[in-house]
Amino acid sequence: MKVTRVDQFSPGPRTRLVRVSTDSGIDGWSEGTLEGKPFSVPAAIGEYSEYLVGKDPLRIEHHWQQMYRSAFFRGGAHNMTAIAALDAALWDIAGKHYGVPSYALMGGRVRDRVRVYAHWGIDDLTDEGLERSRARLSELSKSGYTAYKSGTGSQTFRAHEPPSTIDRFVKCAYMMREWVGPEVELCFDFHGKMTPGLAIEVCNELRGMRPMFVEEPVPQENPDALKLVSDHAAFPIATGERLLSRWEFREVIEKQCVSLLQPDVAHCGGPTELKKIANYAEVYYQHIMPHSAIGPLALAACMMVDAVVPNFLIQEQVDASLGAGLLKRPWRVVDGYVDLWETPGLGVEVDEGVATGRYEGEEYGYHRELGGESYFEDGSVADW
Ligand SMILES: [Mg+2]
Repeated sequence: MKVTRVDQFSPGPRTRLVRVSTDSGIDGWSEGTLEGKPFSVPAAIGEYSEYLVGKDPLRIEHHWQQMYRSAFFRGGAHNMTAIAALDAALWDIAGKHYGVPSYALMGGRVRDRVRVYAHWGIDDLTDEGLERSRARLSELSKSGYTAYKSGTGSQTFRAHEPPSTIDRFVKCAYMMREWVGPEVELCFDFHGKMTPGLAIEVCNELRGMRPMFVEEPVPQENPDALKLVSDHAAFPIATGERLLSRWEFREVIEKQCVSLLQPDVAHCGGPTELKKIANYAEVYYQHIMPHSAIGPLALAACMMVDAVVPNFLIQEQVDASLGAGLLKRPWRVVDGYVDLWETPGLGVEVDEGVATGRYEGEEYGYHRELGGESYFEDGSVADW
């Protein structure tokens, strides 16, 4: 079997799909979305495709090594997202070729279903805002979710903030706990917007409502800053969506800067690399909770690894990743879990009529798909 061509499609906002075709008639599908990079990652996938066409798609590790190392300039978000997309498509092809779910080729599943969390929170304390939060919670709890993650919305954080800003955030968090009760897990994504000092102060305030974790309290570049927060927090700290290979996770794992790791399968080098990161973390009793804020093919590639590693805790999932409209059978959340599939490959069948369409709406392009520009009141740049 040989790869005959690689096609790319952009059928929706923040949705860039890859189809790897072979001379046996098997196609592998995956997602190559790097948020805010709609032109450069497809170009990188095009470059790697020049290497891949004509090769045996079943030599997945060999191709990973070739794509990662032959570039000479290793790593980086563009390269790793491009490699990730091709890697996931090759796992889809391999599963279909052998007639088994792709996870069966990684040692077989260690669990039957994958626990997922949804995005939910309270951030608008007006009557209408609270009503909206109530309605969403009631809708999600009907699907049996037992964990929710809340972000910080459009709130920006300076190096320090007055009590009113912190108190408002904390009030929302305690209200969330009051609404869901003690059986449900609640977590918070600080989105790398805070300094270590501010993050520690806010984490101390959150302590009493017992969060499951706080994600990216500070940006990802400095593991020591992350460790400073972890050392002062009374609950697990998580990071990883912007770390792009085992080498970028190395210090975070070995210095035990966090308890929970959130590699994104679509950015960290694909299922091949995600499994290796999980195996590495197992030595330190760290668990993975793969980041997935894009589409249903990325969710499938995450779950392929969630299925086979013991140190998996919970999977992120957003509404779009369930695949309504794009998949012939969207993923279903039942009792807070997604059942592992028994069909060959990554368990997804894309509706090619939809998948090969072209999106030309407003939410496209650098900045626009990431929500625009953020500034502090003095005009200096704030983290989004
Ligand atoms: Mg995040």
